[in-house]
Formats: sequence, structure tokens, C-alpha cells
Amino acid sequence: MTATDAGAPARGVDRPSRWELRTCGRKGHQTYAPHESELAQRLSGQTGAGQVWRCLRCGDFVLGAPHGAGPADQAPLVLRGKALRSAIILRVLAAERLVRTVLLALAVYGVLRFRASRGSIQAALDRDLPALRAAGIHLDQLALVHELQHALTTQPSRLSLVAALLAGYAAIEAVEAVGLWLLARWGEYFAAVATAVFLPLEVRELAKGVTLTRAGAFTINVAAVLYLLLAKHLFGLRGGRAAYDSERRGEQLLEVERSALGSAPQHPGGGRAPAGSTDDRAAATTTTLPDPTPHSTRSLP
Ligand SMILES: [Zn+2]
Repeated sequence: MTATDAGAPARGVDRPSRWELRTCGRKGHQTYAPHESELAQRLSGQTGAGQVWRCLRCGDFVLGAPHGAGPADQAPLVLRGKALRSAIILRVLAAERLVRTVLLALAVYGVLRFRASRGSIQAALDRDLPALRAAGIHLDQLALVHELQHALTTQPSRLSLVAALLAGYAAIEAVEAVGLWLLARWGEYFAAVATAVFLPLEVRELAKGVTLTRAGAFTINVAAVLYLLLAKHLFGLRGGRAAYDSERRGEQLLEVERSALGSAPQHPGGGRAPAGSTDDRAAATTTTLPDPTPHSTRSLP
């Protein structure tokens, strides 16, 4: 697949997906008046009630003054289409990582209480935090916790080492959660590598016996690694960074409209990052523009 192929979808420009509508419903529409007059004309219209501007996310015409104005290059990068769906998946994964972080933090607590308990990490936690037992959360079934508990049982003197390792694992999960939530490129790489590294351990645990927790964690992790590698074009897969950037840019309403105008300007200096907050936004620059797509003939409300 070439970068241009990847960037040509322009799906959802005329008919917003339910994700775009839901996001607009939650966050409000996002309109922008580009300084380029031809482009501004394509994005705006006049109705009896006043001026309308197209939402950069869902493409609907919105009554009222635009939320921002400036050169088209500086328009905010709005998640839409495939990029929006992908963002939702990454944030669900981030939430799952956050839950793991909390569980691992509990495990650290369990280890530190282990000496007094003389049982298992789970027993230490069950005694101190009965709510955990009531909720049916079995920390011992997390592969690493199980491994470390085994080490602890054989050599209780290694208490602080085990606690430190668990805390390190919790920190890794926390970094994954933050990186994925921010939709940052580094976060995608970090999550893919950090998740893959622990897979052999999980396979070993599964070999000892399949439980719902083990099988669930393993399935989520394998799916996450595959998704990150393929959908995010990590390590040069499926066209690599160029295809990734192209996908992100290709669905921007302003880009689609500009392509339709046939006046797509060059990006001076190899591309400047548009105003935005995440690493991804900065990523959406140095790529080819998507193929021109026909302009929407949506009628004004
Ligand atoms: Zn909208």
C-alpha cells in the first residue's frame, strides 16, 4: 500500500459516522474560518438565520461565528473518521492499563504486608482489603504477580526486591496508560513493546492452567500488540510513518476541501506542525495530500 492509497479515504466527509456525531454531541462542533477566501467559501454559507460554518469533525453546517480563524495550515487537527475510531480504541486500552496500574499498586501493598501475613500476596490483601475479595479480583492470577510471589515464597528475604519489581511493572503500565490516552506516537510504541515483552510470561502462566483472568489478559494483550503494530504502522509496517501520517491528514475536512479546490499549497520547510497538543498532531505534516475528492453538495439547513 502506498502512502497516497492510505490517505485517500475521505470517507465520512459527506455523511458523518456515529462516532463523529457522538463526539460532536459531547464536545460540541468545531468550526474554523481559514484565511484563504476560496476555502472559506467552501466551508461557509449564508442562511436566513445568519452565517453557518461547516464543523471540521462531522461536516455539518453550524450556525454562528467560527470557533477559530487563521491560515488553513494552522487549523486544529480534528480527529474524525478512521482516526477518531482509532482514538477511541486507544483510550479504552488506556483505561484498561490504568486498571492494571491500580491492581499492581495493590500488589505492591500486598507484598509489603506479606511478611506479617505469612500467606500469599492475595491473602495479605484479602485481610486488609476485604472489598477486593468481595469483588473477586485475583491479583495472583496476573502472570508477573504470580511469578514474583513464587520467588517470595522461596526466599522471603527478597521482599523489597519483589516489591520494587512490581512497582516498576506498575510504572510501566501507568506510562502505557498515559501515552495511549494522549494518542502519542511514543505511547503507541511504548505500549506495543512493553506489552509484547510480557507475553511469554503470560503464555507460561496459561500453560500451567487456563483461567478466565489469565486468558482474558492474554487475549487483550495479543490483540493490543497486533492492533498497535498494524493499525498504527509501527516499525515501518504497512507503509510505516508515511502511511500513518497520510491517514491522519487525509481525513481532515480542510485538506479534503483544499484538495477539491486543486490549490493544495506546499508545506514550507517540509511541513510545520499545526496547532495542537499531542505528538500525533505534530506528526500530521510532511506527507502527500490525498487524491482530490468531489466536494460535498450538502444543502444548507
Ligand atoms: Zn460537528
